[in-house]
Amino acid sequence: MRVKLWGVRGSLPTPLSPAHLRERIEWVIGEFERRKKSWQTFKTADFVADLPAHVSGGYGGNTACAEVTHAKSRLIIDAGSGIRAFSENVLTTSPQTSEFHIYFTHFHWDHVIGLPFFAPIYMKNKIVNCYAVHDNLEAALRTIFRKPNFPVPYEVVENQLRIHRLEPRQPAKIGGFTLTPYQLDHPDPCWGARIEAGGKSLAWAVDTECTRITHEELGEDAKLYTNSDLLVFDAQYSFDEALEKINWGHASGPIGIDLAMRESVKRVIFMHHDPAASDDTIRAAEEQTRVYYDEILRARKQAGLKTPELDWHFAHEGETIQL
Ligand SMILES: [Zn+2]
Ligand SMILES: [Zn+2]
Repeated sequence: MRVKLWGVRGSLPTPLSPAHLRERIEWVIGEFERRKKSWQTFKTADFVADLPAHVSGGYGGNTACAEVTHAKSRLIIDAGSGIRAFSENVLTTSPQTSEFHIYFTHFHWDHVIGLPFFAPIYMKNKIVNCYAVHDNLEAALRTIFRKPNFPVPYEVVENQLRIHRLEPRQPAKIGGFTLTPYQLDHPDPCWGARIEAGGKSLAWAVDTECTRITHEELGEDAKLYTNSDLLVFDAQYSFDEALEKINWGHASGPIGIDLAMRESVKRVIFMHHDPAASDDTIRAAEEQTRVYYDEILRARKQAGLKTPELDWHFAHEGETIQL
């Protein structure tokens, strides 16, 4: 299974501002001047490759959209603004693809705003299957195309769309995947999903505050996480911000670390970065999570508890994770 993240920002698309870009160029030039003194030969490519990822590329500004592939099957999770670039890519690299599958976790703008820019919905020879647990899926999609918010009416794309309602906590076959929706802790209910194929499992848990802290509180929804190969989790806030923003529906790195360690998750990617956070701020939240994780490891080792190390990092737009 392969997961490509086309959008990792939360709440609102967040392009890098000209002021931030200028600041970054100045920083990179300063770093270049500082380091070149020690070089025997000039190596620009090495210098660029060596820059911290949050400087050379940034975390990315498009909202939630992931492409999950396995063998010949492809599933899209959410249609945030990241789906526009995916649309362009898939029509170039696999123009023959005639059928698409999109799972909607919920209908907050950041998860649906890209749908009108997903070109296959306008192509008469394509079918776009849309799945959600919510029984108002079709009404929610109609809203996106409603005048005066968008110039093309829903009726233009209606023939290409197929609406499918999924049962909560019941596995559904979608292409070569088995997808089971589980409820997250988020306003206007949001349903994460455990996606399985080829003996690998992806737990999608973005847009969750994780107010149900313990395994027992999670009840049936704990199955979303347990023993998954990859957990994609919500880290919109730093730990302190998450404590201030109770009931805002989002979590932080340390909450995901606790959950992943308890549920024997193998790997975690944190996303849904706050639109108010600069790349430096997101980097600081990642560092804070690192300190927390190292502390937990140290304490457990000291107590003689067996603790398999967890592979985790904060997501960058465009990255691909192979399971
Ligand atoms: Zn969101
Ligand atoms: Zn949301």
